[in-house]
Amino acid sequence: MTPPKVITDPIAMRQWVLDQRLAGRSVGLVPTMGALHDGHLSLVQAAKRDCDLAVTTLFVNPTQFGPGEDFERYPRDLAGDQLLLATAGCDALFAPSVEAMFPADSQTRIDVGAAARTLEGAIRPTHFQGVATVVMKLFNIAPADRAYFGQKDYQQTVVIRHLVRDLNVPIEVCVCPIVREPDGLAMSSRNAYLSPEERAHALVLYRALRACESAFALGERDPQRLREAMLAEFAGEDGVELDYAELLLDGGMNPATPGDQAMTVVVAARVGRTRLIDNLRLGAASSAAS
Ligand code: AMP
Repeated sequence: MTPPKVITDPIAMRQWVLDQRLAGRSVGLVPTMGALHDGHLSLVQAAKRDCDLAVTTLFVNPTQFGPGEDFERYPRDLAGDQLLLATAGCDALFAPSVEAMFPADSQTRIDVGAAARTLEGAIRPTHFQGVATVVMKLFNIAPADRAYFGQKDYQQTVVIRHLVRDLNVPIEVCVCPIVREPDGLAMSSRNAYLSPEERAHALVLYRALRACESAFALGERDPQRLREAMLAEFAGEDGVELDYAELLLDGGMNPATPGDQAMTVVVAARVGRTRLIDNLRLGAASSAAS
Protein backbone atom coordinates (compact mmCIF):
# COMPACT_ATOMS: atom_id res chain seq x y z
CA MET A 1 0.00 0.00 0.00
CA THR A 2 1.93 3.03 -1.26
CA PRO A 3 0.60 6.37 0.02
CA PRO A 4 -0.29 8.82 -2.75
CA LYS A 5 2.21 11.53 -3.63
CA VAL A 6 0.94 14.73 -2.01
CA ILE A 7 1.15 17.87 -4.14
CA THR A 8 -0.02 21.32 -3.05
CA ASP A 9 1.41 23.55 -5.79
CA PRO A 10 -0.67 23.89 -8.99
CA ILE A 11 2.42 24.16 -11.21
CA ALA A 12 3.98 21.02 -9.70
CA MET A 13 0.66 19.21 -10.13
CA ARG A 14 0.46 20.13 -13.79
CA GLN A 15 4.05 19.06 -14.37
CA TRP A 16 3.40 15.67 -12.72
CA VAL A 17 0.40 14.96 -14.96
CA LEU A 18 2.21 16.14 -18.11
CA ASP A 19 5.26 13.98 -17.26
CA GLN A 20 3.05 10.91 -16.81
CA ARG A 21 1.20 11.48 -20.05
CA LEU A 22 4.42 12.15 -21.96
CA ALA A 23 5.67 8.82 -20.62
CA GLY A 24 2.59 7.20 -22.19
CA ARG A 25 0.56 6.70 -19.00
CA SER A 26 -3.12 7.65 -18.93
CA VAL A 27 -4.42 9.68 -15.99
CA GLY A 28 -7.86 9.75 -14.33
CA LEU A 29 -8.86 12.80 -12.26
CA VAL A 30 -11.24 12.65 -9.27
CA PRO A 31 -12.24 16.09 -7.95
CA THR A 32 -13.51 16.06 -4.35
CA MET A 33 -13.88 18.31 -1.31
CA GLY A 34 -12.39 15.62 0.95
CA ALA A 35 -13.90 14.02 4.09
CA LEU A 36 -13.83 10.96 1.89
CA HIS A 37 -16.25 8.04 2.03
CA ASP A 38 -16.90 4.97 -0.11
CA GLY A 39 -18.74 7.07 -2.71
CA HIS A 40 -15.58 9.07 -3.39
CA LEU A 41 -13.45 5.92 -3.29
CA SER A 42 -15.67 4.29 -5.93
CA LEU A 43 -14.64 7.13 -8.27
CA VAL A 44 -10.96 6.53 -7.50
CA GLN A 45 -11.44 2.81 -8.17
CA ALA A 46 -13.15 3.58 -11.48
CA ALA A 47 -10.24 5.87 -12.42
CA LYS A 48 -7.76 3.10 -11.57
CA ARG A 49 -9.80 0.59 -13.56
CA ASP A 50 -9.83 2.77 -16.68
CA CYS A 51 -6.50 4.61 -16.45
CA ASP A 52 -2.89 3.86 -15.50
CA LEU A 53 -2.89 6.46 -12.72
CA ALA A 54 -5.45 8.20 -10.52
CA VAL A 55 -5.19 11.74 -9.14
CA THR A 56 -7.62 12.85 -6.44
CA THR A 57 -8.06 16.51 -5.62
CA LEU A 58 -9.07 17.59 -2.11
CA PHE A 59 -10.22 21.18 -2.01
CA VAL A 60 -13.08 22.72 -0.08
CA ASN A 61 -13.93 25.33 -2.68
CA PRO A 62 -15.11 28.56 -1.05
CA THR A 63 -16.59 29.89 -4.30
CA GLN A 64 -19.30 27.20 -4.45
CA PHE A 65 -20.67 28.01 -0.97
CA GLY A 66 -23.16 30.83 -0.57
CA PRO A 67 -23.33 33.26 2.37
CA GLY A 68 -24.54 31.45 5.50
CA GLU A 69 -23.77 27.99 4.08
CA ASP A 70 -21.45 25.47 5.75
CA PHE A 71 -18.02 26.40 4.28
CA GLU A 72 -16.42 26.95 7.69
CA ARG A 73 -17.85 23.84 9.35
CA TYR A 74 -17.49 21.55 6.29
CA PRO A 75 -15.65 18.42 7.56
CA ARG A 76 -11.91 18.34 6.84
CA ASP A 77 -9.66 15.33 7.53
CA LEU A 78 -6.53 15.34 5.37
CA ALA A 79 -4.75 12.59 7.34
CA GLY A 80 -7.77 10.26 7.23
CA ASP A 81 -8.29 10.98 3.53
CA GLN A 82 -4.66 10.16 2.77
CA LEU A 83 -5.04 6.74 4.40
CA LEU A 84 -8.24 5.96 2.49
CA LEU A 85 -6.68 7.06 -0.79
CA ALA A 86 -3.70 4.78 -0.16
CA THR A 87 -6.05 1.80 0.27
CA ALA A 88 -7.89 2.74 -2.94
CA GLY A 89 -4.60 2.82 -4.88
CA CYS A 90 -4.66 6.56 -5.61
CA ASP A 91 -1.32 7.69 -7.07
CA ALA A 92 -1.33 11.42 -6.40
CA LEU A 93 -3.26 13.76 -4.17
CA PHE A 94 -3.64 17.45 -4.96
CA ALA A 95 -4.47 19.46 -1.84
CA PRO A 96 -3.93 23.17 -2.58
CA SER A 97 -4.55 26.07 -0.21
CA VAL A 98 -7.39 28.52 -0.86
CA GLU A 99 -4.74 31.19 -1.61
CA ALA A 100 -3.13 28.98 -4.26
CA MET A 101 -6.46 28.42 -6.01
CA PHE A 102 -8.08 31.81 -5.46
CA PRO A 103 -5.50 34.51 -4.81
CA ALA A 104 -6.93 37.82 -3.65
CA ASP A 105 -6.96 39.26 -7.19
CA SER A 106 -8.72 36.25 -8.80
CA GLN A 107 -11.76 37.60 -10.65
CA THR A 108 -12.73 35.33 -13.57
CA ARG A 109 -15.77 33.12 -13.09
CA ILE A 110 -17.56 30.80 -15.48
CA ASP A 111 -21.15 31.64 -16.43
CA VAL A 112 -22.75 28.21 -16.75
CA GLY A 113 -26.12 29.03 -18.33
CA ALA A 114 -29.60 27.57 -18.09
CA ALA A 115 -28.75 24.13 -16.68
CA ALA A 116 -27.42 25.87 -13.58
CA ARG A 117 -30.43 28.07 -12.89
CA THR A 118 -33.11 25.59 -11.80
CA LEU A 119 -33.44 23.33 -8.69
CA GLU A 120 -30.07 23.49 -6.85
CA GLY A 121 -29.19 26.63 -8.81
CA ALA A 122 -32.44 28.36 -7.84
CA ILE A 123 -31.75 27.68 -4.16
CA ARG A 124 -27.98 28.24 -4.34
CA PRO A 125 -27.65 30.97 -7.03
CA THR A 126 -23.82 31.13 -7.19
CA HIS A 127 -23.16 27.44 -6.51
CA PHE A 128 -22.64 26.15 -10.05
CA GLN A 129 -20.62 29.16 -11.09
CA GLY A 130 -18.24 28.25 -8.26
CA VAL A 131 -18.27 24.55 -9.18
CA ALA A 132 -17.66 25.17 -12.89
CA THR A 133 -14.86 27.62 -12.17
CA VAL A 134 -13.00 25.32 -9.80
CA VAL A 135 -13.54 22.26 -12.02
CA MET A 136 -12.21 24.17 -15.05
CA LYS A 137 -9.18 25.21 -12.98
CA LEU A 138 -8.63 21.59 -11.92
CA PHE A 139 -8.88 20.45 -15.55
CA ASN A 140 -6.14 22.96 -16.41
CA ILE A 141 -3.98 22.15 -13.38
CA ALA A 142 -4.33 18.37 -13.85
CA PRO A 143 -4.88 17.87 -17.60
CA ALA A 144 -5.99 14.25 -17.31
CA ASP A 145 -7.46 11.89 -19.93
CA ARG A 146 -10.66 11.34 -17.97
CA ALA A 147 -12.48 12.97 -15.05
CA TYR A 148 -14.77 11.08 -12.67
CA PHE A 149 -17.93 12.48 -11.08
CA GLY A 150 -20.74 10.91 -9.06
CA GLN A 151 -24.35 10.54 -10.22
CA LYS A 152 -25.14 11.66 -6.63
CA ASP A 153 -24.75 15.28 -7.80
CA TYR A 154 -26.92 14.89 -10.89
CA GLN A 155 -27.29 18.55 -11.80
CA GLN A 156 -23.54 19.00 -11.35
CA THR A 157 -22.92 16.26 -13.94
CA VAL A 158 -25.23 18.05 -16.38
CA VAL A 159 -23.42 21.36 -15.81
CA ILE A 160 -19.99 19.75 -16.19
CA ARG A 161 -20.91 17.93 -19.39
CA HIS A 162 -22.01 21.31 -20.76
CA LEU A 163 -18.83 22.97 -19.58
CA VAL A 164 -16.66 20.37 -21.32
CA ARG A 165 -18.69 20.49 -24.52
CA ASP A 166 -19.20 24.26 -24.65
CA LEU A 167 -15.55 25.13 -23.91
CA ASN A 168 -13.99 22.25 -25.92
CA VAL A 169 -12.18 20.85 -22.89
CA PRO A 170 -10.11 17.83 -23.99
CA ILE A 171 -11.20 15.49 -21.20
CA GLU A 172 -13.67 12.60 -21.08
CA VAL A 173 -16.34 12.94 -18.38
CA CYS A 174 -17.26 9.68 -16.62
CA VAL A 175 -20.24 9.47 -14.27
CA CYS A 176 -20.32 6.71 -11.64
CA PRO A 177 -23.34 5.28 -9.78
CA ILE A 178 -24.44 6.47 -6.34
CA VAL A 179 -22.94 4.52 -3.42
CA ARG A 180 -25.41 4.08 -0.56
CA GLU A 181 -25.34 3.01 3.08
CA PRO A 182 -26.89 -0.43 3.67
CA ASP A 183 -30.23 1.23 4.57
CA GLY A 184 -30.27 3.26 1.35
CA LEU A 185 -29.06 6.69 2.53
CA ALA A 186 -26.78 8.10 -0.17
CA MET A 187 -23.27 8.52 1.19
CA SER A 188 -22.31 12.16 1.69
CA SER A 189 -19.68 14.01 3.67
CA ARG A 190 -22.58 16.02 5.12
CA ASN A 191 -24.14 12.90 6.69
CA ALA A 192 -21.60 13.45 9.49
CA TYR A 193 -23.70 16.45 10.60
CA LEU A 194 -26.77 14.29 11.31
CA SER A 195 -27.75 13.34 14.86
CA PRO A 196 -28.98 9.72 15.21
CA GLU A 197 -32.56 11.00 15.17
CA GLU A 198 -31.97 13.13 12.06
CA ARG A 199 -30.19 10.21 10.43
CA ALA A 200 -33.40 8.16 10.82
CA HIS A 201 -35.54 10.99 9.36
CA ALA A 202 -33.11 11.35 6.44
CA LEU A 203 -34.12 7.93 5.12
CA VAL A 204 -37.31 9.50 3.77
CA LEU A 205 -35.36 10.77 0.74
CA TYR A 206 -34.53 7.27 -0.44
CA ARG A 207 -37.98 5.96 0.53
CA ALA A 208 -39.55 8.67 -1.63
CA LEU A 209 -37.30 7.81 -4.58
CA ARG A 210 -38.17 4.14 -4.19
CA ALA A 211 -41.90 4.91 -4.05
CA CYS A 212 -41.50 6.73 -7.33
CA GLU A 213 -39.53 3.83 -8.77
CA SER A 214 -42.22 1.34 -7.74
CA ALA A 215 -44.91 3.42 -9.44
CA PHE A 216 -42.73 3.66 -12.56
CA ALA A 217 -42.17 -0.12 -12.52
CA LEU A 218 -45.95 -0.59 -12.44
CA GLY A 219 -46.18 1.43 -15.66
CA GLU A 220 -46.90 4.94 -14.36
CA ARG A 221 -45.40 7.47 -16.82
CA ASP A 222 -47.15 10.65 -15.74
CA PRO A 223 -44.54 12.82 -13.96
CA GLN A 224 -47.25 14.49 -11.88
CA ARG A 225 -48.47 11.14 -10.48
CA LEU A 226 -44.92 9.92 -9.97
CA ARG A 227 -44.25 13.09 -8.03
CA GLU A 228 -47.33 12.53 -5.89
CA ALA A 229 -45.98 9.10 -4.93
CA MET A 230 -42.90 10.85 -3.55
CA LEU A 231 -44.74 13.64 -1.82
CA ALA A 232 -46.88 11.09 0.03
CA GLU A 233 -43.71 9.78 1.69
CA PHE A 234 -42.65 13.26 2.78
CA ALA A 235 -46.13 14.11 4.07
CA GLY A 236 -45.77 11.63 6.90
CA GLU A 237 -42.25 12.65 7.93
CA ASP A 238 -41.71 15.20 10.69
CA GLY A 239 -38.45 17.10 10.96
CA VAL A 240 -37.78 17.15 7.21
CA GLU A 241 -38.30 20.21 4.99
CA LEU A 242 -38.60 19.35 1.32
CA ASP A 243 -36.84 21.80 -1.03
CA TYR A 244 -37.89 20.07 -4.26
CA ALA A 245 -38.89 16.71 -5.71
CA GLU A 246 -38.98 16.69 -9.50
CA LEU A 247 -39.00 14.36 -12.48
CA LEU A 248 -36.55 15.28 -15.25
CA LEU A 249 -36.02 13.87 -18.70
CA ASP A 250 -33.00 11.64 -18.10
CA GLY A 251 -29.68 13.22 -19.04
CA GLY A 252 -30.55 16.90 -18.67
CA MET A 253 -32.55 19.46 -16.73
CA ASN A 254 -35.74 19.52 -18.83
CA PRO A 255 -38.88 18.48 -16.94
CA ALA A 256 -40.10 14.99 -17.79
CA THR A 257 -43.29 14.82 -19.85
CA PRO A 258 -45.99 12.12 -19.74
CA GLY A 259 -44.85 9.03 -21.59
CA ASP A 260 -41.08 9.64 -21.30
CA GLN A 261 -39.43 6.25 -20.89
CA ALA A 262 -36.23 7.41 -19.14
CA MET A 263 -36.45 9.91 -16.31
CA THR A 264 -34.29 11.02 -13.41
CA VAL A 265 -36.10 11.79 -10.20
CA VAL A 266 -34.27 14.35 -8.08
CA VAL A 267 -34.94 15.35 -4.51
CA ALA A 268 -33.49 17.81 -1.99
CA ALA A 269 -34.52 18.30 1.63
CA ARG A 270 -33.33 19.80 4.86
CA VAL A 271 -33.07 17.59 7.92
CA GLY A 272 -32.42 19.93 10.83
CA ARG A 273 -29.60 22.19 9.60
CA THR A 274 -28.32 19.63 7.10
CA ARG A 275 -29.24 19.83 3.44
CA LEU A 276 -29.32 16.50 1.58
CA ILE A 277 -29.77 15.68 -2.11
CA ASP A 278 -30.42 12.37 -3.84
CA ASN A 279 -31.72 11.01 -7.14
CA LEU A 280 -32.64 7.85 -9.00
CA ARG A 281 -32.73 7.00 -12.68
CA LEU A 282 -35.94 5.42 -13.88
CA GLY A 283 -36.09 3.32 -17.03
CA ALA A 284 -32.47 3.89 -18.04
CA ALA A 285 -29.51 1.55 -17.86
CA SER A 286 -27.34 2.79 -14.98
CA SER A 287 -24.36 4.68 -16.38
CA ALA A 288 -20.99 3.47 -15.15
CA ALA A 289 -19.29 5.76 -17.63
CA SER A 290 -20.31 7.74 -20.64
P1 AMP B 1 -17.83 16.17 -2.98
O1 AMP B 1 -16.61 15.86 -2.19
O2 AMP B 1 -19.09 16.10 -2.20
O3 AMP B 1 -17.69 17.43 -3.81
O4 AMP B 1 -17.94 15.00 -4.04
C1 AMP B 1 -16.88 14.70 -4.91
C2 AMP B 1 -17.38 13.74 -5.96
O5 AMP B 1 -17.84 12.54 -5.34
C3 AMP B 1 -18.56 14.30 -6.77
O6 AMP B 1 -18.40 13.96 -8.13
C4 AMP B 1 -19.73 13.59 -6.13
O7 AMP B 1 -20.84 13.46 -7.00
C5 AMP B 1 -19.13 12.25 -5.80
N1 AMP B 1 -19.90 11.58 -4.76
C6 AMP B 1 -20.30 12.10 -3.57
N2 AMP B 1 -21.06 11.22 -2.89
C7 AMP B 1 -21.17 10.12 -3.68
C8 AMP B 1 -21.84 8.86 -3.54
N3 AMP B 1 -22.56 8.57 -2.47
N4 AMP B 1 -21.72 7.96 -4.54
C9 AMP B 1 -20.99 8.26 -5.66
N5 AMP B 1 -20.33 9.42 -5.84
C10 AMP B 1 -20.42 10.35 -4.87
